[in-house]
Amino acid sequence: MTSSKKRILTGIRPTGPLHLGHYAGALENWLRLQEEYECFFLIADYQVSDYADDIDLVRKAVFEVALDWLAVGLDPERSHFHIESLIPEHAELTLWLSWYVPLARLQRNPTLKAEMESFETKSVPVAFFTYPVMQVANILMPKAHLVPVGEDQLPHIEMTREVARRFNRLFGEVFPEPEALVGRVPRLVGLDGNAKMSKSLKNAIYLKDDAETVTKKVKRMFTDPTRIHATDPGHVEGNPVFMYHDAFNPNEAEVQDLKERYVKGTVGDVEVKEKLALALNAFLDPIRERRAHYEARPKLVREALAAGTSHAKKVAEGTMAEVRAALRLNYLE
Ligand code: ATP
Ligand code: MG
Repeated sequence: MTSSKKRILTGIRPTGPLHLGHYAGALENWLRLQEEYECFFLIADYQVSDYADDIDLVRKAVFEVALDWLAVGLDPERSHFHIESLIPEHAELTLWLSWYVPLARLQRNPTLKAEMESFETKSVPVAFFTYPVMQVANILMPKAHLVPVGEDQLPHIEMTREVARRFNRLFGEVFPEPEALVGRVPRLVGLDGNAKMSKSLKNAIYLKDDAETVTKKVKRMFTDPTRIHATDPGHVEGNPVFMYHDAFNPNEAEVQDLKERYVKGTVGDVEVKEKLALALNAFLDPIRERRAHYEARPKLVREALAAGTSHAKKVAEGTMAEVRAALRLNYLE
């Protein structure tokens, strides 16, 4: 079934279960746009840096990601859940496109620079520079018009636009130039106050955490470091506890009241955190319920991935036929 709708391509690497940052930065937009666009949701297993170190982890995470997608309400009947490495056309397109990405362009990429620091003294694999090019190929493969992502991905999408322009200029119009769309919370801070909640930084509240775990994590979370007693005037600005209230507590009057009392020094962190834990758990409850439903039915999860991958593979074959024709690879005809 081909659709006349415009397309979305976006994805997540299978490195673990999904967290509140994924929700507010990306998934929320994916959910909203499912009707209007034909959506391709990718599990990007070619792009997991520790693949060779921990294949079991990646195998498990492929299903964790798919379960979380189903749990938040993404609909595999309408959207295509697909696994990157089962569509090797992604690798082929990456290789062709990598000729049109200057190395210096990658070395300037701020997201890549930040990630590079995590290698510390370990050597950096070539694939680390290939993965952003692979994202370019992922986006161009279904000829996506829109890419809903968190803010950290913007440099990759800008690069995608440049590569599309360059390819089209050299070989004829093949790819549309995609637009990025950043979520309501472009970059959710971590529990530890780090600029980004992230699987790798272990500072996350997972969509699958139970109520008790969420309450415990909130109790321990970073707040205003300048405030020692509940009667000290506190800072709301830049305080992760209030950032989460703003992002996930739908009771605006309660949040406003807490903020006013916090600044005056008439409310303690304990109460602000208790209210946050309640709000987060209320938000997560329906997600947990749907997750449990699918966890008990793994066949449905596998079927969703198989159907989406099969559809995306056909689309990829179509695009690659056009790319090969544009590159005039028909040497033997
Ligand atoms: P890792 O730490 O392993 O890089 P990650 O948590 O950053 O994992 P990705 O798979 O790299 O997850 O990102 C998936 C999508 O979620 C991307 O669009 C990314 O921008 C978005 N995202 C991830 N973390 C956040 C966050 N803290 N705030 C907003 N968006 C986020
Ligand atoms: Mg990331």
